[in-house]
Amino acid sequence: MQAESSSARLHSNADALRTLRSVCAAIRETGELTIEHTKLLHFFCADVLVTATDILDHKSIKRIVAQPSRREFYLVDSAARHPHLLLPGFCSCQAYLHKVAMRSESLVCKHELAVMVAAALPAGRSRVETTELADDEWAKELQLALKLAALHSEG
Ligand SMILES: [Zn+2]
Repeated sequence: MQAESSSARLHSNADALRTLRSVCAAIRETGELTIEHTKLLHFFCADVLVTATDILDHKSIKRIVAQPSRREFYLVDSAARHPHLLLPGFCSCQAYLHKVAMRSESLVCKHELAVMVAAALPAGRSRVETTELADDEWAKELQLALKLAALHSEG
């Protein structure tokens, strides 16, 4: 048997995800994305870091928060007709389905990484636009976003 070449594979996905979350916690504490943070993100998510950074810099990220339960989902602009829907540990894009969920090629998709970093940055430093909705309105919006995401993935 050949030894695994990728250093990220030394850890299980769960361990790597935990570490990735702790990097985001460190970003939150520092209030900015430093070179050290970027190096760590590169270690775990080299395949999506550049495209995630592009999303952070150029695309709209909407955070929809339910009140009073504080549940949330995110919508990230895409080249496709409908934005991608993100729930914790889920993104509606094809890369998430094929590379993250069905195989363990990637730890996260570019949208998930962008949202994790954006959520860790202070409000003024990210392009996240937050909308708060009452719990029942939030559930309706989520249902609609799921439907659009499903329609889109079929077409
Ligand atoms: Zn995605």
